[in-house]
Amino acid sequence: MTDSRSASTAPVPPAAGAISEDAWAQALTLLRGSGRSIVLACHLNPDGDALGSMLATALGLRQLGISVQASFSNPFRLPQALAQLAGLELLVRPEEVVTRPDVLVTFDTGSVDRLGDLAPLVAAAGEVIVVDHHVTNSGFGTYNLIDPRAAATAVVVEELLTRLGVRLDAAIAECLYVGLSTDTASFRGAATSPSTHELAARLLATGIKPDEISRRLYDARPMRSLHLLADVLSRVVLEPDLAGGAGLSWSYVTQEDLERYGLGMEWVEGVVDMIRGAEESTLAMVAKQIVPGEWSISLRSRGSIDVGALSVRLGGGGHRFAAGFTGRGPLEDVVASLRAALDDVPVPVTS
Ligand code: 5GP
Ligand code: MN
Repeated sequence: MTDSRSASTAPVPPAAGAISEDAWAQALTLLRGSGRSIVLACHLNPDGDALGSMLATALGLRQLGISVQASFSNPFRLPQALAQLAGLELLVRPEEVVTRPDVLVTFDTGSVDRLGDLAPLVAAAGEVIVVDHHVTNSGFGTYNLIDPRAAATAVVVEELLTRLGVRLDAAIAECLYVGLSTDTASFRGAATSPSTHELAARLLATGIKPDEISRRLYDARPMRSLHLLADVLSRVVLEPDLAGGAGLSWSYVTQEDLERYGLGMEWVEGVVDMIRGAEESTLAMVAKQIVPGEWSISLRSRGSIDVGALSVRLGGGGHRFAAGFTGRGPLEDVVASLRAALDDVPVPVTS
Protein backbone atom coordinates (compact mmCIF):
# COMPACT_ATOMS: atom_id res chain seq x y z
CA MET A 1 0.00 0.00 0.00
CA THR A 2 1.31 3.44 -0.86
CA ASP A 3 1.08 6.45 1.37
CA SER A 4 -1.35 8.82 -0.34
CA ARG A 5 0.40 11.86 1.12
CA SER A 6 3.67 11.01 -0.64
CA ALA A 7 2.03 11.50 -4.06
CA SER A 8 0.51 14.88 -3.46
CA THR A 9 -0.48 15.57 -7.07
CA ALA A 10 -2.11 12.22 -7.78
CA PRO A 11 -5.85 12.08 -7.23
CA VAL A 12 -6.69 10.01 -4.19
CA PRO A 13 -9.63 7.68 -4.68
CA PRO A 14 -12.27 8.13 -2.01
CA ALA A 15 -12.03 5.60 0.80
CA ALA A 16 -15.02 3.40 1.55
CA GLY A 17 -17.63 5.41 3.37
CA ALA A 18 -16.23 8.76 2.27
CA ILE A 19 -18.47 11.42 0.72
CA SER A 20 -18.78 11.29 -3.07
CA GLU A 21 -17.67 14.23 -5.20
CA ASP A 22 -21.12 14.24 -6.73
CA ALA A 23 -22.77 14.72 -3.31
CA TRP A 24 -20.41 17.60 -2.52
CA ALA A 25 -21.08 19.26 -5.88
CA GLN A 26 -24.85 18.95 -5.57
CA ALA A 27 -24.84 20.27 -2.00
CA LEU A 28 -22.73 23.28 -3.01
CA THR A 29 -25.05 24.07 -5.90
CA LEU A 30 -28.11 23.90 -3.68
CA LEU A 31 -26.64 26.13 -0.99
CA ARG A 32 -25.32 28.72 -3.44
CA GLY A 33 -28.48 28.95 -5.52
CA SER A 34 -30.04 32.36 -5.04
CA GLY A 35 -33.59 32.86 -3.86
CA ARG A 36 -33.95 29.48 -2.20
CA SER A 37 -35.29 29.22 1.33
CA ILE A 38 -32.80 27.25 3.39
CA VAL A 39 -33.42 25.77 6.83
CA LEU A 40 -30.65 24.35 9.00
CA ALA A 41 -31.70 21.90 11.73
CA CYS A 42 -29.87 19.76 14.27
CA HIS A 43 -31.00 17.00 16.61
CA LEU A 44 -33.18 17.68 19.60
CA ASN A 45 -31.52 18.52 22.91
CA PRO A 46 -28.48 19.59 20.90
CA ASP A 47 -25.00 18.81 22.11
CA GLY A 48 -21.84 20.71 21.25
CA ASP A 49 -21.32 19.00 17.91
CA ALA A 50 -24.92 19.36 16.75
CA LEU A 51 -25.23 23.03 17.68
CA GLY A 52 -21.64 23.98 16.84
CA SER A 53 -21.85 22.37 13.40
CA MET A 54 -25.16 24.06 12.60
CA LEU A 55 -24.11 27.51 13.81
CA ALA A 56 -20.75 27.31 12.05
CA THR A 57 -22.62 26.64 8.82
CA ALA A 58 -25.11 29.46 9.47
CA LEU A 59 -22.23 31.87 10.14
CA GLY A 60 -20.34 30.68 7.07
CA LEU A 61 -23.33 31.07 4.79
CA ARG A 62 -24.01 34.52 6.23
CA GLN A 63 -20.44 35.46 5.35
CA LEU A 64 -21.32 34.57 1.74
CA GLY A 65 -24.50 36.66 1.87
CA ILE A 66 -26.74 33.59 2.07
CA SER A 67 -29.40 33.88 4.75
CA VAL A 68 -30.84 30.82 6.45
CA GLN A 69 -33.05 29.85 9.34
CA ALA A 70 -31.30 27.69 11.96
CA SER A 71 -33.32 25.89 14.59
CA PHE A 72 -33.92 22.79 16.69
CA SER A 73 -36.91 21.12 18.29
CA ASN A 74 -38.66 22.15 21.47
CA PRO A 75 -37.73 22.19 24.30
CA PHE A 76 -36.01 25.21 22.77
CA ARG A 77 -33.46 25.50 25.57
CA LEU A 78 -29.71 25.26 25.59
CA PRO A 79 -27.51 23.83 28.32
CA GLN A 80 -25.48 26.45 30.19
CA ALA A 81 -22.32 25.02 28.61
CA LEU A 82 -23.50 26.13 25.15
CA ALA A 83 -25.35 29.29 26.12
CA GLN A 84 -22.53 31.62 25.07
CA LEU A 85 -21.61 30.00 21.79
CA ALA A 86 -20.84 32.27 18.84
CA GLY A 87 -23.68 32.64 16.37
CA LEU A 88 -26.55 31.99 18.80
CA GLU A 89 -28.20 35.17 17.52
CA LEU A 90 -28.85 33.30 14.26
CA LEU A 91 -31.15 30.76 15.96
CA VAL A 92 -34.90 30.96 15.47
CA ARG A 93 -37.58 29.11 17.43
CA PRO A 94 -38.94 25.95 15.73
CA GLU A 95 -42.40 27.56 15.41
CA GLU A 96 -40.86 30.30 13.24
CA VAL A 97 -39.28 27.94 10.74
CA VAL A 98 -40.88 27.85 7.27
CA THR A 99 -42.85 24.65 6.84
CA ARG A 100 -41.82 23.94 3.23
CA PRO A 101 -38.22 25.08 2.69
CA ASP A 102 -36.53 24.58 -0.66
CA VAL A 103 -33.53 23.10 1.11
CA LEU A 104 -33.22 21.49 4.54
CA VAL A 105 -29.76 20.79 5.93
CA THR A 106 -29.54 18.51 8.97
CA PHE A 107 -26.56 18.27 11.30
CA ASP A 108 -25.40 15.41 13.54
CA THR A 109 -28.80 13.82 13.15
CA GLY A 110 -28.62 10.07 12.62
CA SER A 111 -32.30 9.52 11.90
CA VAL A 112 -35.37 11.62 11.07
CA ASP A 113 -37.01 11.16 14.48
CA ARG A 114 -34.00 12.83 16.15
CA LEU A 115 -35.21 16.13 14.65
CA GLY A 116 -38.16 16.08 17.08
CA ASP A 117 -40.68 18.80 16.19
CA LEU A 118 -38.75 19.57 13.00
CA ALA A 119 -38.96 15.99 11.65
CA PRO A 120 -41.85 16.82 9.24
CA LEU A 121 -39.48 19.14 7.36
CA VAL A 122 -37.68 16.13 5.88
CA ALA A 123 -40.73 15.14 3.85
CA ALA A 124 -41.82 18.74 3.20
CA ALA A 125 -38.50 20.17 1.97
CA GLY A 126 -37.62 20.21 -1.71
CA GLU A 127 -34.16 18.78 -1.08
CA VAL A 128 -32.48 17.46 2.06
CA ILE A 129 -28.75 17.61 2.69
CA VAL A 130 -27.63 15.37 5.56
CA VAL A 131 -24.38 16.40 7.22
CA ASP A 132 -23.27 13.80 9.74
CA HIS A 133 -20.70 11.33 11.00
CA HIS A 134 -22.90 8.66 12.57
CA VAL A 135 -22.11 5.25 11.14
CA THR A 136 -25.73 4.33 11.91
CA ASN A 137 -27.14 7.22 9.83
CA SER A 138 -29.96 5.96 7.67
CA GLY A 139 -28.97 8.28 4.78
CA PHE A 140 -32.35 10.01 4.70
CA GLY A 141 -31.19 12.95 2.58
CA THR A 142 -31.42 13.56 -1.12
CA TYR A 143 -27.69 14.27 -0.72
CA ASN A 144 -25.79 12.65 2.10
CA LEU A 145 -22.59 14.23 3.37
CA ILE A 146 -21.92 11.47 5.89
CA ASP A 147 -18.41 10.46 6.88
CA PRO A 148 -18.43 7.80 9.61
CA ARG A 149 -14.66 8.18 10.00
CA ALA A 150 -14.96 11.85 10.95
CA ALA A 151 -14.43 12.42 14.67
CA ALA A 152 -17.32 14.90 14.70
CA THR A 153 -19.90 16.36 12.37
CA ALA A 154 -17.86 19.55 12.74
CA VAL A 155 -15.13 17.87 10.65
CA VAL A 156 -17.53 17.43 7.74
CA VAL A 157 -18.77 21.01 8.18
CA GLU A 158 -15.25 22.40 7.96
CA GLU A 159 -14.81 20.69 4.61
CA LEU A 160 -18.19 21.98 3.44
CA LEU A 161 -17.28 25.55 4.41
CA THR A 162 -13.86 25.27 2.77
CA ARG A 163 -15.45 24.01 -0.45
CA LEU A 164 -17.94 26.90 -0.29
CA GLY A 165 -15.04 29.36 -0.05
CA VAL A 166 -15.89 30.53 3.47
CA ARG A 167 -13.05 32.22 5.38
CA LEU A 168 -12.46 30.57 8.75
CA ASP A 169 -13.00 33.39 11.27
CA ALA A 170 -12.89 33.14 15.06
CA ALA A 171 -16.66 32.81 15.49
CA ILE A 172 -16.88 29.90 13.06
CA ALA A 173 -13.74 28.36 14.55
CA GLU A 174 -15.23 28.49 18.05
CA CYS A 175 -18.35 26.66 16.91
CA LEU A 176 -16.31 23.98 15.17
CA TYR A 177 -13.90 23.63 18.10
CA VAL A 178 -16.83 23.08 20.48
CA GLY A 179 -18.09 20.29 18.20
CA LEU A 180 -14.67 18.70 17.86
CA SER A 181 -13.84 18.92 21.55
CA THR A 182 -17.15 17.59 22.83
CA ASP A 183 -17.50 14.71 20.36
CA THR A 184 -13.96 13.46 20.93
CA ALA A 185 -14.35 13.76 24.73
CA SER A 186 -11.60 16.39 24.69
CA PHE A 187 -9.51 14.56 22.09
CA ARG A 188 -9.53 11.34 24.11
CA GLY A 189 -11.90 9.29 21.94
CA ALA A 190 -10.86 6.55 19.55
CA ALA A 191 -11.83 8.65 16.52
CA THR A 192 -9.15 11.23 17.40
CA SER A 193 -6.66 11.13 14.54
CA PRO A 194 -3.81 13.24 13.18
CA SER A 195 -6.37 15.07 11.04
CA THR A 196 -8.46 15.81 14.16
CA HIS A 197 -5.50 17.60 15.71
CA GLU A 198 -4.66 19.29 12.40
CA LEU A 199 -8.15 20.71 12.30
CA ALA A 200 -7.88 21.79 15.94
CA ALA A 201 -4.64 23.57 15.05
CA ARG A 202 -6.30 25.46 12.19
CA LEU A 203 -9.14 26.46 14.50
CA LEU A 204 -6.80 27.64 17.28
CA ALA A 205 -4.81 29.67 14.75
CA THR A 206 -7.82 32.01 14.46
CA GLY A 207 -7.12 33.15 18.03
CA ILE A 208 -9.87 31.30 19.88
CA LYS A 209 -9.06 30.49 23.52
CA PRO A 210 -9.18 26.74 24.27
CA ASP A 211 -8.96 27.30 28.03
CA GLU A 212 -11.95 29.64 28.13
CA ILE A 213 -14.00 27.45 25.80
CA SER A 214 -13.17 24.31 27.81
CA ARG A 215 -14.00 26.00 31.11
CA ARG A 216 -17.45 26.93 29.80
CA LEU A 217 -17.97 23.46 28.35
CA TYR A 218 -16.70 21.28 31.18
CA ASP A 219 -15.76 23.15 34.32
CA ALA A 220 -18.58 25.46 35.31
CA ARG A 221 -21.48 24.02 37.30
CA PRO A 222 -23.75 24.95 40.22
CA MET A 223 -22.92 23.34 43.57
CA ARG A 224 -26.24 21.55 43.70
CA SER A 225 -25.38 19.71 40.49
CA LEU A 226 -22.57 18.03 42.46
CA HIS A 227 -25.14 16.76 44.92
CA LEU A 228 -27.29 15.46 42.08
CA LEU A 229 -24.22 13.76 40.62
CA ALA A 230 -23.48 12.21 44.01
CA ASP A 231 -27.00 10.76 44.15
CA VAL A 232 -26.71 9.27 40.67
CA LEU A 233 -23.24 7.85 41.29
CA SER A 234 -24.29 6.40 44.64
CA ARG A 235 -26.82 4.24 42.78
CA VAL A 236 -24.45 2.67 40.29
CA VAL A 237 -24.85 -1.07 40.16
CA LEU A 238 -22.61 -3.63 38.50
CA GLU A 239 -24.05 -6.60 36.65
CA PRO A 240 -20.84 -8.51 35.96
CA ASP A 241 -22.27 -11.45 34.03
CA LEU A 242 -24.02 -9.57 31.24
CA ALA A 243 -22.82 -9.77 27.64
CA GLY A 244 -20.82 -12.92 28.24
CA GLY A 245 -18.96 -11.41 31.18
CA ALA A 246 -18.27 -8.00 29.69
CA GLY A 247 -20.35 -6.57 32.53
CA LEU A 248 -22.60 -3.54 32.71
CA SER A 249 -22.40 -0.73 35.26
CA TRP A 250 -25.46 1.43 35.29
CA SER A 251 -27.52 4.05 37.06
CA TYR A 252 -30.53 6.25 36.46
CA VAL A 253 -31.87 9.78 36.91
CA THR A 254 -35.54 10.60 37.37
CA GLN A 255 -37.46 13.81 36.88
CA GLU A 256 -37.98 13.79 40.64
CA ASP A 257 -34.20 13.89 41.14
CA LEU A 258 -33.99 16.94 38.89
CA GLU A 259 -36.89 18.66 40.63
CA ARG A 260 -35.30 18.06 44.02
CA TYR A 261 -32.36 20.20 42.97
CA GLY A 262 -34.15 22.49 40.52
CA LEU A 263 -31.88 21.34 37.68
CA GLY A 264 -32.21 20.18 34.08
CA MET A 265 -30.90 16.94 32.56
CA GLU A 266 -27.88 18.80 31.15
CA TRP A 267 -26.11 18.41 34.53
CA VAL A 268 -25.96 14.64 34.30
CA GLU A 269 -25.04 14.31 30.62
CA GLY A 270 -21.43 13.49 31.53
CA VAL A 271 -22.15 10.95 34.24
CA VAL A 272 -22.20 7.96 31.89
CA ASP A 273 -18.61 8.78 30.95
CA MET A 274 -17.65 8.65 34.63
CA ILE A 275 -19.38 5.30 35.06
CA ARG A 276 -17.58 4.00 31.99
CA GLY A 277 -14.40 4.27 34.04
CA ALA A 278 -15.46 1.41 36.31
CA GLU A 279 -12.82 -1.25 35.66
CA GLU A 280 -15.16 -4.07 36.66
CA SER A 281 -17.20 -3.73 33.45
CA THR A 282 -16.64 -2.71 29.84
CA LEU A 283 -20.15 -1.31 29.38
CA ALA A 284 -21.81 1.65 31.08
CA MET A 285 -25.40 2.85 30.96
CA VAL A 286 -27.40 5.73 32.36
CA ALA A 287 -31.19 5.81 32.03
CA LYS A 288 -32.53 9.37 32.00
CA GLN A 289 -36.24 9.77 32.60
CA ILE A 290 -37.64 12.26 30.08
CA VAL A 291 -41.27 11.89 31.16
CA PRO A 292 -42.90 9.06 33.13
CA GLY A 293 -42.60 5.93 30.97
CA GLU A 294 -39.96 7.37 28.63
CA TRP A 295 -36.24 6.90 29.20
CA SER A 296 -33.33 8.24 27.21
CA ILE A 297 -30.68 5.54 27.44
CA SER A 298 -27.01 6.48 27.14
CA LEU A 299 -24.60 3.62 26.50
CA ARG A 300 -20.81 3.56 26.52
CA SER A 301 -18.36 0.78 25.72
CA ARG A 302 -14.67 0.48 26.31
CA GLY A 303 -14.31 -3.04 25.07
CA SER A 304 -15.15 -5.03 22.00
CA ILE A 305 -18.90 -4.54 22.21
CA ASP A 306 -20.31 -2.17 19.61
CA VAL A 307 -22.98 -0.18 21.45
CA GLY A 308 -23.93 1.62 18.21
CA ALA A 309 -25.04 -1.66 16.61
CA LEU A 310 -26.71 -2.69 19.86
CA SER A 311 -28.63 0.59 20.02
CA VAL A 312 -29.83 0.26 16.43
CA ARG A 313 -31.40 -3.06 17.42
CA LEU A 314 -33.18 -1.24 20.24
CA GLY A 315 -34.46 1.55 17.98
CA GLY A 316 -31.66 4.08 18.52
CA GLY A 317 -28.22 4.71 17.10
CA GLY A 318 -24.84 6.27 17.67
CA HIS A 319 -21.23 5.19 17.46
CA ARG A 320 -19.22 2.10 18.34
CA PHE A 321 -18.23 3.39 21.77
CA ALA A 322 -21.07 5.86 22.52
CA ALA A 323 -24.70 5.38 21.57
CA GLY A 324 -28.23 5.47 22.86
CA PHE A 325 -31.87 4.71 22.35
CA THR A 326 -35.26 5.61 23.78
CA GLY A 327 -36.78 3.08 26.17
CA ARG A 328 -40.49 3.01 26.95
CA GLY A 329 -42.29 1.68 30.00
CA PRO A 330 -41.11 1.14 33.57
CA LEU A 331 -37.35 1.30 34.11
CA GLU A 332 -37.22 -2.39 35.05
CA ASP A 333 -38.70 -3.31 31.64
CA VAL A 334 -36.29 -1.07 29.75
CA VAL A 335 -33.33 -2.57 31.61
CA ALA A 336 -34.72 -6.06 31.01
CA SER A 337 -34.83 -5.45 27.25
CA LEU A 338 -31.28 -4.16 27.36
CA ARG A 339 -30.16 -7.26 29.31
CA ALA A 340 -31.84 -9.47 26.72
CA ALA A 341 -30.14 -7.61 23.85
CA LEU A 342 -26.79 -7.90 25.64
CA ASP A 343 -27.23 -11.62 26.00
CA ASP A 344 -27.52 -11.80 22.22
CA VAL A 345 -24.39 -9.78 21.60
CA PRO A 346 -21.69 -11.76 19.84
CA VAL A 347 -18.78 -11.67 22.24
CA PRO A 348 -15.19 -11.90 21.90
CA VAL A 349 -14.69 -9.98 25.13
CA THR A 350 -11.55 -7.97 25.64
CA SER A 351 -10.89 -5.96 28.75
P1 5GP B 1 -25.42 10.49 24.54
O1 5GP B 1 -25.35 9.26 25.38
O2 5GP B 1 -24.22 11.35 24.74
O3 5GP B 1 -26.72 11.21 24.67
O4 5GP B 1 -25.38 10.01 23.03
C1 5GP B 1 -24.31 9.24 22.54
C2 5GP B 1 -24.51 8.99 21.06
O5 5GP B 1 -25.67 8.20 20.86
C3 5GP B 1 -24.71 10.25 20.22
O6 5GP B 1 -23.95 10.06 19.04
C4 5GP B 1 -26.18 10.27 19.90
O7 5GP B 1 -26.41 10.78 18.64
C5 5GP B 1 -26.57 8.81 19.97
N1 5GP B 1 -27.91 8.66 20.54
C6 5GP B 1 -28.26 8.84 21.83
N2 5GP B 1 -29.58 8.62 22.00
C7 5GP B 1 -30.08 8.27 20.79
C8 5GP B 1 -31.39 7.93 20.31
O8 5GP B 1 -32.38 7.87 21.04
N3 5GP B 1 -31.49 7.66 18.97
C9 5GP B 1 -30.43 7.70 18.14
N4 5GP B 1 -30.62 7.42 16.85
N5 5GP B 1 -29.19 8.02 18.55
C10 5GP B 1 -29.01 8.30 19.87
MN1 MN C 1 -21.51 14.21 16.63
